[in-house]
Amino acid sequence: MRILIVDDEPAVHDSYRFCFSGGRSVPAETRDALDAMATDLFGAGEPDAGDDAAFAFEPHHCHQGLDAVAAVERAIADDHPFAVAFIDIRMPPGIDGRETARRIRALDPDIHLVIVTGYSDFSPVEISKVAGPADKIFYIPKPFEVAEISQMALALCRRWHNDRELAAARSLLAAQVEALEEKSAELAANESLAMHIAMHDALTDAPNRVAFLRALAERCRQARGFATAMLDLDRFKLVNDTLGHLAGDELIREVCGTIQRSVPQGTMVARLGGDEFGLFFDSEDEAVAVAACEKVVHACATSFNILGHAVRCGASCGLVMGGATGERDPTDLVRRADMALNDAKRSGRGVVRVFDTHMDEGIRIRREIEEGLTQALARNELSLCFQPIVGRGALDVVGFEALVRWHTAEHGAVSPAIFIPIAEESHLIHDLGDWVLDHALAELRHWPGQYVSVNFSPIQFRRSHFVGHIMDSVKRAGIDPGRVQIEITETAIFDDAERASKTLCDLRDLGFRIALDDFGTGYSSLYNIRKFALDCLKIDRSFIDGMGRERESAAIVHSIIHLGRALGLGVVAEGVETEAQAQALRVAGASHLQGFLFSHPVPAEEARALAAQQWLSLSSGGSTEDMAESVQA
Ligand code: C2E
Ligand code: CA
Ligand code: CA
Repeated sequence: MRILIVDDEPAVHDSYRFCFSGGRSVPAETRDALDAMATDLFGAGEPDAGDDAAFAFEPHHCHQGLDAVAAVERAIADDHPFAVAFIDIRMPPGIDGRETARRIRALDPDIHLVIVTGYSDFSPVEISKVAGPADKIFYIPKPFEVAEISQMALALCRRWHNDRELAAARSLLAAQVEALEEKSAELAANESLAMHIAMHDALTDAPNRVAFLRALAERCRQARGFATAMLDLDRFKLVNDTLGHLAGDELIREVCGTIQRSVPQGTMVARLGGDEFGLFFDSEDEAVAVAACEKVVHACATSFNILGHAVRCGASCGLVMGGATGERDPTDLVRRADMALNDAKRSGRGVVRVFDTHMDEGIRIRREIEEGLTQALARNELSLCFQPIVGRGALDVVGFEALVRWHTAEHGAVSPAIFIPIAEESHLIHDLGDWVLDHALAELRHWPGQYVSVNFSPIQFRRSHFVGHIMDSVKRAGIDPGRVQIEITETAIFDDAERASKTLCDLRDLGFRIALDDFGTGYSSLYNIRKFALDCLKIDRSFIDGMGRERESAAIVHSIIHLGRALGLGVVAEGVETEAQAQALRVAGASHLQGFLFSHPVPAEEARALAAQQWLSLSSGGSTEDMAESVQA
């Protein structure tokens, strides 16, 4: 511990030297008494011998105030400061003790100052004022006791040491608090970033599905009416597939911006995933909400510049009103808006559809049918009917169209016109199609020579190994492919004409017959079909039905027949219900006829009988009452 002694009298310095010679000259009783006094004075913790031993005094002697000030300055610069300074008051010719104390204090705020004087002509208050604080200035009268000085030095050194340790601990603590504060600020920033990421879509930075559902739930709690809409791009997959994912991403960003700019003020626009966006906005009036959505759909119908390509993708929109009179459950709102969106997609895209309750009902039935259909095969609920196809002249039965029937325990008979599209969507069509083909082929063996005409959905047709698959079934059944006619629709072949053309050629090479079903309802130009390997066209029954009433239908029927003949194809007229129709079709040149006039689709046993009989006599050909009616008509 460094101790500074400032006194102009050399003799006094000797006394100090004696004081700091390690206390060896101090009698033990005196030392104890002074220890007790020091504890009283400074309230220090229990001193122990080890502590005291640690305080080896290091006195530094100065004879003038200025020297002392310089010594303090040096000590601070060397980072080895004094703990205590004993200062005499009168030290001519230099500065006096008061000024020395003032200057030392100015340099060192921590040092303890002890004013040692034999005179009473100084004011402690005055000195404290310039060299305070008061708890760091002490007074000892001259002549002093050795023990008094050494004990005072010991007590003040201990206190100085404790103060320093405390200060060090405090500054360490302050640094730690500061670091902690920095850390927590950083954490808070991280948290808000994480919150942002959790609630926003990375591609567009628009709110995501979670944020949308949250905000929608919040909005549902308010009384005012509002509209919820789902928006989906019409040809996004095409852009992604043809221009790549980068272009797809860019398009999503562009469209998101377009939507944000075209919605009413205050609209929440969220990207729900893929090419789907969700919006909701204040609106009490359905017509106004529809107009707002139409504006958005219209804005999306423009062409976007995507990586140098002009891309038109268009959007469809489903809308549901929520609020005062509408739906209040957020999940249900989204579900209903989705149903409306699906309806918009089905009804030609690029439009806005408002949810109505029939959509909900329709969905429920669809789901039931889908579930029921999965079990229908196992439960033996499916069966096949056969409808004769007859030659135009002698009405000889040349073949039968196999038509699937589903009889359910719950709903009775369900029309294939209803369940086939559902089977197509859920891909059950493959198992169902296999079942139909196998059963049709099995039935074929009971006929003398007729062919069976089996319907295939476009999804079956596009299946990989379609040709091999059919060939396997035919081989397994031991049937000549020439007795199997494959009915496919225009959609099946024109979606991917090149591939379809190859498939048809392969089938024809294997000996199968190919019929183009529902002909005239698709978009294929009559001219284009010449490229495909076909055997016959089946004129859709809507034209046959319209023949007697509309000139257009009659004209279409005539041109299809002409075209078929020109291309060397057979032409089957379906849905022939009246004698008049049959007559007109014969005259026009249809090669084959099919319809209720000749026979309804009949169960397998009846078909066997008709096949054996080979010719239909109109009076006995039909098996039902409808038949009799249509014959009379
Ligand atoms: P489609 O291929 O056009 O079959 C002809 C449909 O017309 C049959 O209806 C048949 O009962 C009906 N029909 C026949 N003659 C007449 C008539 O004179 N007047 C009227 N109004 N209708 C007549 P069905 O059996 O209800 O089949 C409906 C559709 O379901 C079929 O239309 C076909 O697209 C599909 N379908 C039926 N069975 C199968 C199948 O096994 N596989 C596939 N993929 N689709 C099938
Ligand atoms: Ca058909
Ligand atoms: Ca048809």
